[in-house]
Amino acid sequence: MLSGVTPRSTSAIAERRTPRAAFDYTDGSAEQEISLANNARVMFEQSEHALQRIVDRTYGICESCGNPIGKNRLLAFPRATLCMPCKSKQERR
Ligand SMILES: [Zn+2]
Repeated sequence: MLSGVTPRSTSAIAERRTPRAAFDYTDGSAEQEISLANNARVMFEQSEHALQRIVDRTYGICESCGNPIGKNRLLAFPRATLCMPCKSKQERR
């Protein structure tokens, strides 16, 4: 029994079932989609982190120097974890 199923025919089925990889695209749209997905993931992680900081009562406090991040910066970028001076220092690195 099952003598008709050779390793070769099994791999042929697996090949057919595997969806064509999105990476086959050469116009860069797949790359764009991946970067969009990555951005969404990063934003989600930052939001989760911000929520955890609210729970910990450290929200609005700079993670680097411990000073308040500032209301205006938090209004503009609610997921901020660094105050403006520390953020620009980090970006210069
Ligand atoms: Zn700071």
